[in-house]
Order: sequence, then structure tokens, then C-alpha cells
Amino acid sequence: MAAEKRDYYEVLGLQKGASAEEIKKAYRRLAKENHPDLHPGDKACEERFKEINEAYEILSDDDKRAKYDQYGHAAFDPSAGFGGAGFEGFGDFGDLGDIFSSFFGGGFGGTRSNPNAPRRGDNLRASVNISFEEAAFGCKKEVTVGRVEKCADCKGTGCAPGTTPEVCPDCKGSGTVRTTQRTPFGMAQSTAPCSRCRGTGKIIHQPCKTCRGMGSVRRQHKISVNIPAGIDDGQAISLHGQGNDGVNGGPAGDLLVGVIVRPHARFERDGNSVLLMQDISYAQAVLGAEVEVPTLDGNVKLTIPEGTQPGTTFRMRGKGIPYLRGSGRGDQFVTVNIKVPKGLTGSQKELLRQFAASMGEYDGGFSGLGGIFGKKKK
Ligand code: ZN
Repeated sequence: MAAEKRDYYEVLGLQKGASAEEIKKAYRRLAKENHPDLHPGDKACEERFKEINEAYEILSDDDKRAKYDQYGHAAFDPSAGFGGAGFEGFGDFGDLGDIFSSFFGGGFGGTRSNPNAPRRGDNLRASVNISFEEAAFGCKKEVTVGRVEKCADCKGTGCAPGTTPEVCPDCKGSGTVRTTQRTPFGMAQSTAPCSRCRGTGKIIHQPCKTCRGMGSVRRQHKISVNIPAGIDDGQAISLHGQGNDGVNGGPAGDLLVGVIVRPHARFERDGNSVLLMQDISYAQAVLGAEVEVPTLDGNVKLTIPEGTQPGTTFRMRGKGIPYLRGSGRGDQFVTVNIKVPKGLTGSQKELLRQFAASMGEYDGGFSGLGGIFGKKKK
């Protein structure tokens, strides 16, 4: 199954080194072209739309993109067996960054002074992919994250019930050892992580079975996220204290939920404005009309005044996106495009010629190039 997955860059029609701006542009264009609302019932199109969204979710996030560039699809596939060296027991490869940081950035890192000092837990990241309307009016979404939590069975000590860790006799619990070396330049002192306790300052003789002596476990959690009305693509919601548990009594990190807003089939968004291109007929533009236009609140009648020119923009007050902070909404701007009729019948063309003649512009050459040149000397 993983082998059949298309390359995310290929899905977006890009090269591997594409810039963030190029990725965003390609995504918006393709998501619009393949929008299911524009191709109702087209299964292949729906699949493509999903594929495009998935690719963007990964490539628009710097962390996830780096993992993808390095490991390919396997980085996000829990069944891909590249856990091997010490990763087993975590099972969540969607969060490699956190695993690496808890292995290498945290506890064992060379010069950390006190391994028993409280440390804040790492932040976690997740993303949600929501529709244009959901962004406008707000919604509730669930994200699944693998949180590193204090092991409940050993209360974070890493020791089997009824046992306690021994303070490492080599480093006396400091986690680091000082060594003095004779060098050509004299005696040099350096500190290194204690090899006996691997920098933890303690030795666990009987590790807790649940966490294998780590003191923490990674658990999948479904977390419900309230997405406020008015949120825009690329913004993030921070959930305080929902990240990894802290160590030695330190506070938990935060959960940062990035928001991806899928493009709408018809609407564009500019801040709190909704932009819409609306086709009207030549007759409607000339004579004026009432046309139905889509808005976030459903279809609404818009009055096209007599003699409306192509490209005229009308403002529909209060039909835009709600303000993220505060009350009220932006406006919708409707720009009209005048559709030139094609494939007219002979009699329709004749009527148009008569009309043109009545405007004083008909010189008998409308069927060919003569019409264009004839127009010049009006
Ligand atoms: Zn435990």
C-alpha cells in the first residue's frame, strides 16, 4: 500500500526543492481544479482532491516536510518497519521529531547540569484540514496526538513497584563526570555524560514493566479542538498544557494545531472579504437584472443595474468572513464577468446585426475581418 502512494511533490506537480510559496500556489490551483463541488459524482476527482490535500498537509509543515524528504511516506506510516534501533514501544512515527528530541535533546545530552531538575515537556504539533465554510463559521475537530506522559505505574521513576532507583555511584547523581586528561598543552578538564547511568544520575535495577524504565510512555489521545470562526489558512491554535508531560515535575508543553483551509470551488478569501466572480449575460448587463449569487449564507439576490460594465465589482455588506477577534463580518465582493454568447442561430445573429446597425456600428462586414477594421472609422 505504501509503495503505490504517489510522491507528494509529484502530486502537486513540483520538484523536491520547491519553495513554500510554490507549494501553496500549486496546492490552491490544483485543489480548485479538482474541487468535488465542481465535479459532483466524479470519484476519481474526489480521490485526487484527497491526495492533493494530504500532500499539502505534509509539505506545508516544515517539520513534516523535513521528515518526508528524509524518509518518504514511511515517515508517516506506522506499519513501516523502520523502528528498529531503540524506537520500539513508541509506535508513533508521525512524531519522529519528538522522539528524537526526547532521546537526544533531552536527558542524555552532554552538558546538562542537573538531570533531576524540572523540565518543561516538549510542544506537540498537529494539523487539521477544514473547509472554507468551517473556517468562516468555526467548527470542532478532533486531532490524534501521541503524547509522552508520565508513566502511571511507576509515577515517572522508571522503577518496578516497591523499588527505588539507586543514585549512580560514579557521578553521585549529577549525570556528568569530570575527567582530567594530559594533553600536549597541559592538563585539560572536561565533563562528559556519565557512562554508567547514561547521564540520568540514577541506576534502575528493576525497571518498571510498563515503561521499561523510561518513566514515561507515549499514548495516543484524541483531543477535541475548537476552531474559532474567522480563522485563516496557515494560522495555528495553541492548546496550553496539552503537549508532552514535563519531567521531574516540570510543566507540560503545548499542543499547536496548524489549520489548513481547503479552497472553495467559487469563493476566494482576502482577509475577511469573500471574493466571487459571477457570470452574467450580455442582456442582463445592458438591461439590468436581479441575479442570484452564492454567499456563505446561501443564495442571495443581487441587483445588477442597467448598463453594468464588465469587471464591475459590487459590495454585499456583512456577507464576508466573521472577524476572528471581536464581532461583525467582512463583506462579499462580486465582480461580474459578461458572458459573450456563442453558437447563435442565424435569426439571433440577424437580430444582433440589426441592433448593431441601430447603434450605428454595422458596416456589413461583421461576419469577417472587415468588421474589426470597419469599427476603426466610427
Ligand atoms: Zn513506569
